[in-house]
Amino acid sequence: MRLCVTRKGVKGVSAIDRADLANFGPILGAGVQAGVMDAVELSFLGGAGTVTGSKYLLGSGTTRVLIDAGVFQGEKQFRLLNWEPFAVPPRSIDTVLITHAHTDHVGYLPALVRDGFAGEVLATEATVELAEIVLRDAAFLAERDAAHAAEGGYSKHHPPLPLFNIGDVERALKLFRIVEFEVDYELAEGWTARWTRAGHILGAASIRVQTPAASVLFSGDLGRATHPVLRAREIPEGADVVLVESTYGDREHFETSARAHEPLAELIRHTARRGGSVLIPAFAVDRTEVVLQTLTELLHAGRIPALPVFVNSPMALAALGVYRDPRFSDELRPDLDAGSFVDLPQLREVRSTEDSIKLNNPKVPSIIISSSGMATGGRVLHHLEHLLPDDRNAVVLTGYQAIGTRGRALADGATHLKMHGRQVPVRAEILIDEEFSVHADASELLDWLAALSPAPRQVYTVHGDPRSAVALAAAATARLNLTAVAASHGQTVSL
Ligand SMILES: [Zn+2]
Repeated sequence: MRLCVTRKGVKGVSAIDRADLANFGPILGAGVQAGVMDAVELSFLGGAGTVTGSKYLLGSGTTRVLIDAGVFQGEKQFRLLNWEPFAVPPRSIDTVLITHAHTDHVGYLPALVRDGFAGEVLATEATVELAEIVLRDAAFLAERDAAHAAEGGYSKHHPPLPLFNIGDVERALKLFRIVEFEVDYELAEGWTARWTRAGHILGAASIRVQTPAASVLFSGDLGRATHPVLRAREIPEGADVVLVESTYGDREHFETSARAHEPLAELIRHTARRGGSVLIPAFAVDRTEVVLQTLTELLHAGRIPALPVFVNSPMALAALGVYRDPRFSDELRPDLDAGSFVDLPQLREVRSTEDSIKLNNPKVPSIIISSSGMATGGRVLHHLEHLLPDDRNAVVLTGYQAIGTRGRALADGATHLKMHGRQVPVRAEILIDEEFSVHADASELLDWLAALSPAPRQVYTVHGDPRSAVALAAAATARLNLTAVAASHGQTVSL
């Protein structure tokens, strides 16, 4: 195992920071506040009690490391936390470690930088490439949504403000340092970190952090045992304390078969017959690639007609470029060719706003893929506004829909959806295709835990709705004989 040193010496918490800590007392444990040198504490600042906003702080008297810097989405009670002062002064954080480039793991980084964080951000090369795309897009959307809200007068903030701007993003991007998989990086004296492939999206990893007090393994988001595009995940070295995601902690996925995605194929066939179009909201990073790969397979098997397929998301198209980059071909399924894994003759790339608006009323039955995947923002909102009221059309939800999102409302059978300050009737057919999920299900999460060596002495379930997190902790206790509990938001534990 190689050891790379990224920082020389150990950065201390300054006297000013210590004074500031008084303002952040409730969320921090006694060890950090008193400046006890040996104690290391773990604080759950996001991704606990909810799926989004992943942020886990490891802190001792001298060192602070934040694992993931995700933004909260969905439920208002959590979204409002994006606007609260961070639990510790951001400038007192030495290093941020990123598991993968989804916005609920990296999207808060520009806000941290705006508020004074100036340390290094360590991530794998594909994560850095994808994070650049995700964060630039996030700044664009935040600024545009604030402007729209100002015009429409429907913001809660007066005047409406973006969470951060493009300047914050550019400063954040300068802090990234690339790490390789399976290499130990020294963060500070007695602190190292190692990234292991998680098979969730390109570049995604679990991160094992060795602290002076104990080792802690952060699962990040875990892929299924097999992924339609990526090589399967690897099992990292075990640790004393393990945080495992629980997005699907209370559910099992479909068994996939030769007739995989048949409900989707049938929906595309009958929607085209009645002259409608199929809208597929999809996360720009990874889900779009998986949807395109699936449509390629369905078309080549003669199971769907050859319809025009529009990818209407500049971010998704940029991410597709990264997936096709030969530098990352090692991460793809060995039988896929990076250059041609998406092979759809009628694939159209929509880049300009003008072409995007034209797509609101397609002239012939079409398949439109647009982000965001949970319809929380982005171009997909305009398509939903135009396509939902017509019962010839269909909308396919391609994965987990967080509570409080429009995607969740559609999945739960909403008859109206609020968009841009008005109510839009839902008459289009809605299909939930969970076969698209690139998250492990309950059995696969338990398999991952069971494979860890040495076995953990404490497991915290995170990144799940309360019911999923509690169910996974109960299953880990009952079936694997582990000590496991669901972490709660704001909780701090001593290692
Ligand atoms: Zn993710």
